[in-house]
Amino acid sequence: MLSYRQDFPILSRQVYGRPLVYLDNAATTQKPRCVVDAITDEYYSVNANVHRGVHYLSQQATERHEAARETVRRFINARSTSEVVFTRGTTESLNLVASSFGEAFLHDGDEVILTVMEHHSDIVPWQLLQQRRAIVLRVVPMTDDGALDLEAYERLFTPRTRLVCCAHVSNVLGTVNPIRRMARIAHDHGALFLADGAQSVPHMTVDVQDLDCDFLTFSGHKVYGPTGIGVLYGREDLLERMPPYQGGGEMISRVTFEHTTYERLPYKFEAGTPDYVGSHALAVALDYVSAIGMDRIAAHERRLTAYAMERMAAIPGMQLYGTQPDKDAVVAFNIEGIHPLDLGTLLDRLGIAIRTGHHCAQPLMARCGVEGMARASFALYNTTDEIDALVAAIERCRRMF
Ligand code: PLP
Repeated sequence: MLSYRQDFPILSRQVYGRPLVYLDNAATTQKPRCVVDAITDEYYSVNANVHRGVHYLSQQATERHEAARETVRRFINARSTSEVVFTRGTTESLNLVASSFGEAFLHDGDEVILTVMEHHSDIVPWQLLQQRRAIVLRVVPMTDDGALDLEAYERLFTPRTRLVCCAHVSNVLGTVNPIRRMARIAHDHGALFLADGAQSVPHMTVDVQDLDCDFLTFSGHKVYGPTGIGVLYGREDLLERMPPYQGGGEMISRVTFEHTTYERLPYKFEAGTPDYVGSHALAVALDYVSAIGMDRIAAHERRLTAYAMERMAAIPGMQLYGTQPDKDAVVAFNIEGIHPLDLGTLLDRLGIAIRTGHHCAQPLMARCGVEGMARASFALYNTTDEIDALVAAIERCRRMF
């Protein structure tokens, strides 16, 4: 994967006079030149508002926007582009489902199952919904090594369970949750299944039909695409029955002051001018990773993760969180006697970018008995040399305390 580094101009810059070692990929990935070029090209040579224009540029921009939808459809193997809704990102996708699915399908007393390792964006929207609907949230616990307790999961189902929402990959533990199996269990109990793919779509092949999930969410910026664009996949028959999330242009068929009818899918959920520059650049990013091969990327990142886990486990005072054998691209840790914020700050001075804090997963921090953790996370362009640099830098920090 070394040869792909040259596609990412930012990786050759220096910080504090040192080569940048970028290990904050779970927060956002760096962008290959082709993605940045796609944004520039869109603005320099195609820019026009989509869908309503009769003129040449508008038609070309519309074609690109809709071609991007088809690229996303192919990438996640959705059945139809009607099932691909462009949003601002995972967070907006999850809010859309909580709000709209909640409106159509959830009644007082109905239950939604979440897991203890959910990102805040898969917790708070459901709590907001609780202000409108007296729904009950049930939480799947986990084992000490960071696996969901599937027996406890099965026991959470009741005749009122309507939906399960689960991170495909934990942004803290790196645990790859057994989504296919969990979705089957949900379906056996008459419930639907949402997979939060924010941390899986950038790292492995994600096929919504194979996983048999009813909803999937992900963010463009975590899969080498631009910020501000993301995706909600939803089964067409469900989306058909869900009300619009926001109102405005694009999402209507006909408006009078007395009555408004809505556009067909997926436009019903896309009020206002869409991010057609972002959708085009996201498609370029997905084509880029597809050309490399998601399976190759996954294999490379799993190797890096296993290498990092092994090397870091050997550091005295090291506490690693999430030790599932086939975990993915994320290593969260604490070093005895060093606050993670201090560690992050010191590593930064050595040119190494990691993330520290609660990682938008405070219930998970509470489960692990800590306020925060340090986290290194990997992408296709990272190398074992960079992990060696991380380990050497941690050792150096340890000696300072
Ligand atoms: N879900 C998971 C598992 C995440 O890791 C993240 C971001 O880190 C999100 C949701 C939210 O993504 P975004 O901030 O791009 O909406």
